[in-house]
Amino acid sequence: MSEFNLSNYRSIFVDMDGVVVMSSQLISGAPEALAELGKFGDVFILSNNSTRTRQKFAANLTDLGIDLPHSSIINSAFVLAKYLRELRGTTNAFVVGEEGLGEELELMGHEVVGPAEAEVIAVGMDRNLSYDKLDDALTGLLSGAEFYGTNADRTFPTPEGESPGAGASVGAIKGMGFEPERIVGKPSSVAAEIAMEIAGTDNPEDCLVIGDRLETDILMAERAEMDSALVLTGVETRESLEESDIEPTYVFDDLRELVEFH
Ligand SMILES: [Mg+2]
Repeated sequence: MSEFNLSNYRSIFVDMDGVVVMSSQLISGAPEALAELGKFGDVFILSNNSTRTRQKFAANLTDLGIDLPHSSIINSAFVLAKYLRELRGTTNAFVVGEEGLGEELELMGHEVVGPAEAEVIAVGMDRNLSYDKLDDALTGLLSGAEFYGTNADRTFPTPEGESPGAGASVGAIKGMGFEPERIVGKPSSVAAEIAMEIAGTDNPEDCLVIGDRLETDILMAERAEMDSALVLTGVETRESLEESDIEPTYVFDDLRELVEFH
């Protein structure tokens, strides 16, 4: 492990769930640690959560005492909306997901439509997933719409244990016999590229990714050749780290230790 020095990074991408919050509760010391990080580089929240818009995300953070503008929030709903815009211009999308996904698509100029008019089936975490909605998605897919996912996290951490993530809704579509064209959230290179674009950098060596999950946060960093710091306030433990092939550059107990180490 090379020596950890926050001064090496211009852009710092911080995961939300399991790093800053656990469900909606703050992880102790996180706001102070984020403020400290901001003295070294530009801090962005890079989250696979697609259920809220960037505006709502920023408002929730403000309520928690964390001051970041919505332009510093990069969530998977925004990443998918932006990716589709770059790939196909504006498009018609049927959404299997929550409010945040539909709203981010519309903010990017796309239109949210019924399944028969859809060119794209946009799939994110959907806590109201039903067979009716899957039936609609199937209608769109059978008429040639392409399937895109925000992310495929199997679960996310809550104080009571793990809850089903977007992997459950993406998996339900896959289960009907369709493969996604692209899943854009972490660990995808799409997430890394859009994060760098928003941060205004083209050098991955300037970037630090902080996250609690090896197979999303840390794997994305590894593939994008960014440094990474795993914190143990979310899903991973020393044991799961030891069993994994994915290696973070640094490991800390929590965000507070990360900034104090510096
Ligand atoms: Mg996380």
